[in-house]
Amino acid sequence: MFLTDDVLPDEPRAATGCAVCRALKSQWRQATDKGNPAYDMSHAVDLAIEISRHPHAKKRQA
Ligand SMILES: [Zn+2]
Repeated sequence: MFLTDDVLPDEPRAATGCAVCRALKSQWRQATDKGNPAYDMSHAVDLAIEISRHPHAKKRQA
């Protein structure tokens, strides 16, 4: 038996200085907070994927 209920998914790595990633990360925190009305693990997984896929220019953006 696995104690999956108490295991949080890996915290997504938001890109430094990216407002979109920061907003997604903040939503992710709420979605993984059991005391939060926005608590929703499957949504948290979606958000983590969205953060990991958010594109960033390697160099300075034009
Ligand atoms: Zn980003």
